[in-house]
Amino acid sequence: MAQAPQPNGGGVRPGSLPAKWITGGENCVEVPDWQVLAYNEDFYILRQSGCVSYEKPFLYLLFGKDKALLEDTGAPPSDAARVVSDVIAKWLKRKSQTSIALIVAHSHGHGDHVAGDAGFRGLANVTMVPLTVDGTREFFGIEKWPDGIGHVDLGERVLDVIPIPGHNALSLAFYDRQTGVLFTGDSLYPGRLYVQDFPAFVRSTERLVEFTKGKIVAHILGTHIEQMAVPYKDYPIGTKYQPEEHELALSRGALLELEEALHGMGDKPVRMALRDFTIWPK
Ligand SMILES: [Zn+2]
Ligand SMILES: [Zn+2]
Repeated sequence: MAQAPQPNGGGVRPGSLPAKWITGGENCVEVPDWQVLAYNEDFYILRQSGCVSYEKPFLYLLFGKDKALLEDTGAPPSDAARVVSDVIAKWLKRKSQTSIALIVAHSHGHGDHVAGDAGFRGLANVTMVPLTVDGTREFFGIEKWPDGIGHVDLGERVLDVIPIPGHNALSLAFYDRQTGVLFTGDSLYPGRLYVQDFPAFVRSTERLVEFTKGKIVAHILGTHIEQMAVPYKDYPIGTKYQPEEHELALSRGALLELEEALHGMGDKPVRMALRDFTIWPK
């Protein structure tokens, strides 16, 4: 149900992901605070080092013709504004442009995704999406929360914005029509999916399955890796250095598997390890 007629790339813009990330070791003196990777020349992935925070969150920076959008600002002590400004400056130079507006959005409101916000406030050309349901709804034009879908146009690059409360009341997924990448924050990634509000999480997963029907899903990219490359096994909480971690990207198959597992629980949420992630009701 997310299929292309021919194996020709699905009509989306391609990019590449690394086989391995540096994470946080072995020697922290040699590890950069941020690893920056170009998926392609208009899409950057930033990962905070495990030497700075064991959360090692991922940040995503997407460029359109008129605006750029950043998803998340990192875990404490985050200096994301510095590193993001650097990436933007290099992008501008490459495009022979002098400026571009930046939208700072969030996958959700938890501390390990918003810690660098202060560094962006007051910067010229930066708009912060408010960390409230009403502010988020208004910004992305989501008529009904959480059942509606919002949009943001970066200039020849439209993102769909899908509310997916459950991990957090403010959880959002973004779908980049240009690359076919679905960003799922802490709601689906190779690791422990902490579920705060189980009924809401189930409905959000169902809505994501529904949303992706008939769409190309090149990758599902979440905001952490806690899973090992070994199936059904994770790194314990607090691990800084993960030399054998799972790859970042999941496929739509993982989303279907998540939905199936949740439906199997009925109204009794339990911890359940799957091959690539663990459902972890709080
Ligand atoms: Zn979270
Ligand atoms: Zn998180």
